[in-house]
Amino acid sequence: MEFLRLLISACFWASTATALAAPQVAVDVGHTLADPGASSARGRSEFAYNLDFARLLAAALRAERLGVLEVNFAGAIGSLAERPAQARGSDFLISVHHDSISPEYLQFWDWDGEELSHTTLKRGFGIFVSRRNPDLAGSLRCASAIGARLRRTGFVPTPWHGRKHQPADADNGVWFYDNLVVLHKATFPAVLFEAGVIKHREEELELLDGDRQARMADAVATGIAACLAVGTK
Ligand SMILES: [Zn+2]
Repeated sequence: MEFLRLLISACFWASTATALAAPQVAVDVGHTLADPGASSARGRSEFAYNLDFARLLAAALRAERLGVLEVNFAGAIGSLAERPAQARGSDFLISVHHDSISPEYLQFWDWDGEELSHTTLKRGFGIFVSRRNPDLAGSLRCASAIGARLRRTGFVPTPWHGRKHQPADADNGVWFYDNLVVLHKATFPAVLFEAGVIKHREEELELLDGDRQARMADAVATGIAACLAVGTK
């Protein structure tokens, strides 16, 4: 009888401990202040877009009761390999980016007295996974969950990546990009998320819309929560 009571009490504490140990998601802000990535159709840096979205995503993940580890929110990280190194111990890594287009497809326009480049050809979100990541199955599962959730929320993936990348789950906007350091140096599931194409004149305006940013962050967080099997709000 005493043994049974001890066993029941041990099971209770074990399940409480499991419930308390929420999975941790590392949110990485792509690029740095010194090397800010692409420039938008209106000349705003990709880093600024990445940081705005990463902040909303971190809040949305916390609302899903997931742990969040912020990587490069100050924009001063030293190297690509340092990103997964700082994220070590997390259950999942998402690196936040915004997309551009190859120079040969750029057009030019006058914006605010300046000649800037833009595109009308490529728009939409994309998600990359690396076959060199040691947990490819986990990376793919989360990438597809994020893409599916975004599509259900009304966001559209770009088919453009099919020109250079093999499809992993093209319907949900997921492509292979094996040599991305931030993905293959991670020892746990990892994805690189391109929220949209800031070189696209119309999509840039959508990507600047705070309500839309929050809806997108919510969809990504919900996809991650479902993938990490902790339920939803
Ligand atoms: Zn980028």
